[in-house]
Amino acid sequence: MTNRKTLFAILVVCDIILIAAGAWWFWPRAAAEAIDFDGSRALAHAEAQMAFGPRPTGAEAHRQTGDYILAELTARGWKTETQEFVYRDAPARNIIGKAAIGRGPVIIIGAHYDTRRHADRDSASPTAPTPGANDGASGVAVLLELARALDTQDSRYEIWLAFFDAEDNGGIDGWEWIVGSTHMAQTLTVRPEAVIIADMIGDADQQLFFETNSDAALSAQLFQIAAALGYGEQFIPAPKYAILDDHAPFAQLGIPVVDLIDFDYPHWHTTADTLDKISADSLERVGRVIETFIEQNP
Ligand SMILES: [Zn+2]
Repeated sequence: MTNRKTLFAILVVCDIILIAAGAWWFWPRAAAEAIDFDGSRALAHAEAQMAFGPRPTGAEAHRQTGDYILAELTARGWKTETQEFVYRDAPARNIIGKAAIGRGPVIIIGAHYDTRRHADRDSASPTAPTPGANDGASGVAVLLELARALDTQDSRYEIWLAFFDAEDNGGIDGWEWIVGSTHMAQTLTVRPEAVIIADMIGDADQQLFFETNSDAALSAQLFQIAAALGYGEQFIPAPKYAILDDHAPFAQLGIPVVDLIDFDYPHWHTTADTLDKISADSLERVGRVIETFIEQNP
């Protein structure tokens, strides 16, 4: 009997060790794999856009960028739609990627992919085009990496990735701002539960504040997620700027919308808005906040 009791005790101890080892092995991995947005992959999407050159609406590089976005969405299994229209004789094209399996309320994640025709804040070269690394490529880069990283199958939302055209030529040649997002908002056939815009979010010296035309509750929710992820130094939950951006047409419809934007960027609308100013870490922080919001929002 003593031997059997001893054997039983050994077996129980072995089981406890196995269970503990299993928990150690699986739990951290499961947690780490759940949010897997990769900043270096996002940065590669920014590099690809920059390789086309400046991307103002109507330019060949702009058309190539749109084709690149469509190809990436298709390669990741997203359904694509385009909204083509002419604005002041320029061919404009919004692009929407819709998750192949989509159910539940729609959430739109948006970014503009055009760049500004003239770097009019650049005292040395005010008529040169902006390269648009942060103002253009960074938001698109986050959306394209989200196309890979997002777990849309188990989401309780139908996710749309929206790439707006003609955001950034306001005040030049009689153009308005936010032309593409205005077109999309005015032609919506569903009412999204929420819209999140990512614009100028790649600055290596990253600081995002509450944008005051954004929905306060949704902003607070996103900044709380950022704090929980350890991004409290970059996501500062205090109001700072009010900006006319792609969120405005959705806000006008009463749709909860947040503009994630880091407006403390000295290279804004200059020829110095180049790749060396943005970082994989900054793209990753914004991507992971959005991914967490989508995947872990109960
Ligand atoms: Zn701009």
